[in-house]
Amino acid sequence: MYEHEVPLSEDDICCNTDCHCQGVYTCHDCDITGLLCVECLLASHRFMPFHHPSLWNGKHFQQQALHELGFMLPMGHNGHVCPHVHGQGGPQTIVIMDINGIHEVSVGWCRCAGAPTAAKQLFNNKLFPASMARPRTAFTFRVLKLFHMLNHVSRTTPWDFAGTMKRLTDNIDHQGVPDLYKTFKVVQRQWHIVHTWKRSGIRDPSTRRKPGGLVFPCVPCPLPGVNLDTDWKKNPDS
Ligand SMILES: [Zn+2]
Ligand SMILES: [Zn+2]
Ligand SMILES: [Zn+2]
Ligand SMILES: [Zn+2]
Repeated sequence: MYEHEVPLSEDDICCNTDCHCQGVYTCHDCDITGLLCVECLLASHRFMPFHHPSLWNGKHFQQQALHELGFMLPMGHNGHVCPHVHGQGGPQTIVIMDINGIHEVSVGWCRCAGAPTAAKQLFNNKLFPASMARPRTAFTFRVLKLFHMLNHVSRTTPWDFAGTMKRLTDNIDHQGVPDLYKTFKVVQRQWHIVHTWKRSGIRDPSTRRKPGGLVFPCVPCPLPGVNLDTDWKKNPDS
């Protein structure tokens, strides 16, 4: 643990074998031991936009957000930047919570004619927007799934979870981290209900449903035709 506070090797060449630049960045969420140059760092994080890189400034590792280094999360176009990204307001910085904390991310919306709404673009990237009109906050499906499980298994509350995420982001000055508790409290309930619809095979939640249609049948209870003969009344001892 102590050794990871400084670069492990004396050699400061970027650890990408094809690159001969000076390596100055590490990433706390990647399993790399060497240092990367900024180009290789950005290239290797194309599909990992919620990582925490740090810059080796010669004395210590200094946290730097990917968006400060010019990273942009592209929407639409299968991970490529939209050719019209700079149209109509251009990229925007929004707040996203993932399992390792809260991130400010520069989002390059698809601005093509007929592009889906911003909320739909977020959903397409496995991000759950906090509001449907002009979203500025979103949660990864991963973090909502993690909370759902923690809430059921260890009774973690939204308050405790949102507080943990703030402290994971910055444990020294967590007052400076965006407070997502109120938003998270609402979104995790939305996730829960949408998950229940999905599990029950409901594609259109506005269609009429049978009362109790979202409830699982109780497996230990005797269910004729499932774990009990249908003619059990005639053969009560079978
Ligand atoms: Zn990383
Ligand atoms: Zn490099
Ligand atoms: Zn586009
Ligand atoms: Zn039962």
